[in-house]
Amino acid sequence: NKQKPTMLITGGAGFIGSNFIHYFLKNYPDSQLLNIDKLTYAGTMENLREIESLNNYHFIQGDITDEILINNIFNEYDIEGIIHFAAESHVDRSIIDAREFIQSNVLGTMILLQTAKAHWEEKDVLSERRFHQISTDEVYGSLEETGKFNENTPYDPRNPYSASKAGANMLAKSFGSTYGMNIVISSSSNNYGPRQHEEKLIPTIISKALSRESIPIYGDGKNIRDWLYVEDHCRAIDLIYHQANPLETYNIGGGNEKANIEIATEICEILDQLEPDLRKRSSLDSFKDLITFTEDRLGHDRRYAVDDTKLKNELGWKPVEQLESGLKKTVEWYVNQWKIPTL
Ligand code: NAD
Repeated sequence: NKQKPTMLITGGAGFIGSNFIHYFLKNYPDSQLLNIDKLTYAGTMENLREIESLNNYHFIQGDITDEILINNIFNEYDIEGIIHFAAESHVDRSIIDAREFIQSNVLGTMILLQTAKAHWEEKDVLSERRFHQISTDEVYGSLEETGKFNENTPYDPRNPYSASKAGANMLAKSFGSTYGMNIVISSSSNNYGPRQHEEKLIPTIISKALSRESIPIYGDGKNIRDWLYVEDHCRAIDLIYHQANPLETYNIGGGNEKANIEIATEICEILDQLEPDLRKRSSLDSFKDLITFTEDRLGHDRRYAVDDTKLKNELGWKPVEQLESGLKKTVEWYVNQWKIPTL
């Protein structure tokens, strides 16, 4: 039913977007949702298998930089709000070639903003309908041992990925200030959980361990990230989308600062318990023996940590998943998913 108010989700075949779609349709079963995703290497329909036959879920394979397509979507559907996840998201790829990052993350965001503005202005709903920009704590740069980023920390992106996200956020903000669009921005720390592409840290650790190949850890392994379980992130987005005032920014943290080497070690210990036969057959005392330090990433940010007091105080959010149980669930999901042969 194209006349019905419809939420537009971009990048919903990727990691966080697909988890959000599952979360949203479970919690708002009467809503209608349209997912536009280009299905780059990072997105897969597998992530949405369980919901693709629902009547209130629609999918369009397309590029957010395709202005004609985005315009057609707004002509055909009554888009009541946008949650914008679509982006090139892998820092290492951005260091090799930044072009796609500027194209999708900056230009794509601009086209969504501009098209939404035109259509919502025409309907006289510009200040009501929400545009929620999904962002990352990486826009704030890198921290040493102490301190945390808060919402007023100036942007200081240090790699092409985070620079493209910072650019997109600033554009979104400017559409709020210039035209009175109803923009909100949320910047979260590193997510983990089911449905993440294998190239990212946690799935890489699991897949390398299961195939008994060396587990690559950059530099000295002491770079610190704050890990947020993806479902906790989805609940935060839900609250911010529905309750935040226009032009507000919220940081979302996991409260789980860990060095990469600690994460790798914990995952290997979980696998030691889960897959003892595989470990023994490979004559490993522990999957930890596979951990190998590799040459550091260029410009590797040392530490990210966000202060999310504002979200907690103003909107009453707090993460519910403990890192230990979240990691265990995550490892079990991938082991199950990849159906690792036991022989
Ligand atoms: P992902 O790479 O898993 O998914 C991105 C999705 O966007 C993919 O399905 C891809 O096909 C789609 N996409 C890319 N370019 C597109 C385009 N031009 N048009 C349409 N679709 C396109 O990324 P993710 O980890 O799910 O991240 C989602 C969002 O959250 C991103 O904006 C990212 O910056 C942000 N974020 C991610 C993390 C994290 O830890 N993963 C943390 C904070 C913020």
